[in-house]
Amino acid sequence: MAESYFQQRIEKLRRLVRRTQADAILVTDFTNVTYLTGFTGDDSYLLVGPKKPIILSDPRYTTQLEEECPAIDMEIRSPGTKMIESVAKVARQAKVSQLAVEASAMSLALREQVESALGKVSLVPTMNMVESLRQIKDKSEIEATREAVMFAERAFGVVRAALTSDQTEKEVADEIDHQVRRFGGSGCSFPPIVAVGPRAALPHARPTDRRIGESDFVLIDWGAKGRLYMSDLTRVLATARISPKLERIYGVVLKAQKQAIAAIRAGALMKNVDAAARGVIEKAGFGKQFGHGLGHGVGLQIHEAPRLAKTENVPLQAGMVVTVEPGIYLPGWGGVRIEDDVLVTRTGGEVLSSVPKELAECVVGG
Ligand code: ZN
Ligand code: ZN
Repeated sequence: MAESYFQQRIEKLRRLVRRTQADAILVTDFTNVTYLTGFTGDDSYLLVGPKKPIILSDPRYTTQLEEECPAIDMEIRSPGTKMIESVAKVARQAKVSQLAVEASAMSLALREQVESALGKVSLVPTMNMVESLRQIKDKSEIEATREAVMFAERAFGVVRAALTSDQTEKEVADEIDHQVRRFGGSGCSFPPIVAVGPRAALPHARPTDRRIGESDFVLIDWGAKGRLYMSDLTRVLATARISPKLERIYGVVLKAQKQAIAAIRAGALMKNVDAAARGVIEKAGFGKQFGHGLGHGVGLQIHEAPRLAKTENVPLQAGMVVTVEPGIYLPGWGGVRIEDDVLVTRTGGEVLSSVPKELAECVVGG
């Protein structure tokens, strides 16, 4: 990927750091380090100040760093030297007197170590600085997300076509993972949920040995990871004659999802997008059975900022990629959730996934 994307991200971060009293930031969250440099290993920190950023790592990663982020300077500590000593060294060299740190990626123990190693340098705790940048995807990230959606869709197409009533939830989940890799993904973005009938009442059901044919529908929530970026989709497949109850509940959830997607555009308040879906479900009498937020950001992590929820009184911005996933869960019967990944644009929302979702298109076997 072109270096310039990383340079732009680092420049934006510098601008945020300048708004604090700090003269540099120590990025200790490994996903944030990946975002800012392209380095995919872990156990490495990044110092971003006014001068060239420097990545702090150890000899295991020297070659990988040279390959993945050749433009970034590195401080490779020798065996026996502690990370904290590297931090002190680069902070001294950069003449840092106030160092911003990521409060949510720093344990109390690490804080104490950093404070004692840095002597007079004072720490400036920050929250969500890099995460706020990660919310808005640039062109390269949007392309990578499209690719992750494509891997997920292709895998699903194969698994769906081969679905039989005697397969277990676990077998189907394993097959999704296999197919994602076959199509070029590095794996699933999270362990797939394959939930037959009543199991689908659990929004985070773990696949079991229950067989697909044991109920008349199955919920599948899966996603793919490309090289770095992720996708997240959910469909419900009817595996037998569609019952009036499934038809009714499915219809409500699908309508809720479509209305929420229609409400998406840059500037729309996240809580209003949530309300667009929640209103449909409440009106149908299932408000209490939709017990989670409408969606979440997806990118380097499967769940990241922002959150589409009724408490989020903030506007969507162009370049965000969010899931839209209303659901209705009825203990003992099952649940229906429909989830797509949507790119926020200035004028609306572009649904990145194209897996059919009208109920008539979700009938398999028979
Ligand atoms: Zn999902
Ligand atoms: Zn999701």
